[in-house]
Amino acid sequence: MSPFLVAGAKIGRVFHLPQIRITTEAEKCICCKKCDKKCPMSISVCEEVKSNKIESFDCILCGECVDVCPKKVLKYSIKNRN
Ligand code: SF4
Ligand code: SF4
Repeated sequence: MSPFLVAGAKIGRVFHLPQIRITTEAEKCICCKKCDKKCPMSISVCEEVKSNKIESFDCILCGECVDVCPKKVLKYSIKNRN
């Protein structure tokens, strides 16, 4: 896991720069919690899915949850942070 990726994500949030984030389609989620088990930051991804985006400041955008989801609920997006 690149330390630059982690630093870039955190700096982007502080300065409200457009950045990669993970958005979700909550209606597709079957609550299998495979994403929770795979997250290296111990984020309750399944709970975050319900708000249609991963908001946790602990998220390092590693993509493990995106890859493991059997229903393709999670995906990368580029958006301004509000
Ligand atoms: S892995 Fe996908 S389907 Fe399973 S709980 Fe997480 S978001 Fe929902
Ligand atoms: S991208 Fe990585 S750190 Fe962020 S919620 Fe998904 S698994 Fe956890």
